[in-house]
Amino acid sequence: MARRKKIYEGKAKILYEGPEPGTLVQYFKDDATAFNAQKKDVIEGKGVLNNRLSEFFMGGLAAIGVPTHFIRRINMREQLIRAVEIIPLEVIVRNRAAGSLAKRLGLEEGTALPRPIVEFCYKDDKLGDPLVTEEHIIAFGWASQQDLDDMIALALRVNDFLSGVMHGVGIQLVDFKIEIGRVWDGDYQRLIVADEISPDSCRLWDVKTGQKLDKDVFRQDLGSLTDAYSEVAKRLGVLPAQATPIKPTLIN
Ligand code: UDP
Repeated sequence: MARRKKIYEGKAKILYEGPEPGTLVQYFKDDATAFNAQKKDVIEGKGVLNNRLSEFFMGGLAAIGVPTHFIRRINMREQLIRAVEIIPLEVIVRNRAAGSLAKRLGLEEGTALPRPIVEFCYKDDKLGDPLVTEEHIIAFGWASQQDLDDMIALALRVNDFLSGVMHGVGIQLVDFKIEIGRVWDGDYQRLIVADEISPDSCRLWDVKTGQKLDKDVFRQDLGSLTDAYSEVAKRLGVLPAQATPIKPTLIN
């Protein structure tokens, strides 16, 4: 088979040209990075789990009318997506204080917030994805006021959906990050959820024990990342309950 044209390679995924105009193939790698890629490792099986989990979350969002880039899963590591113009912002929604918010405001990790808080970071690895305000976003033309209103509404709908789904399986959604893309339908543009939704971009805590089931396991060396992600997948019914974590296979 002829090699597909690589469009972009990021830290955890690769985008290839899709089979039809306006589509792309998103490939999930096993690479894990944290602290702006200062910590790196290859976690066997992570890409397979994230491909399945992102399919599950994006599919659920579509079912309740939240538009996403997801079209269909192609195989273990790849999914077909709509090509979008990515808005250069990370949209973060927080239900409890953790990570950079806890640090910035001196809050104890786990403190419940009075309401979900939406934050924006400017996507620039060289700058370490700095937190920006709506003023910066509009002044520098990264998005319009209408886009901002739409992005906040989308992010809060994703928060309600994900919080409910996770709560149903005994997991607290502490915070998450999404990326949003612009698509054109004739003369009209709309914003849709893009990139991925997986434990790489969420904080997920077991409701009863507080055990971390997300990328903090890697960031803080808390154990096996595939065990944590497999646990999330099993509870959601994405992997059969008896499935053992994916282990490297030796090829003779
Ligand atoms: N996050 C992400 N990618 C980033 C930065 C953050 O997916 O480049 C996610 C992170 O996993 C967490 C949420 O966004 O679920 C909030 O992250 P925070 O700002 O606390 O940053 P961190 O502690 O990861 O530096």
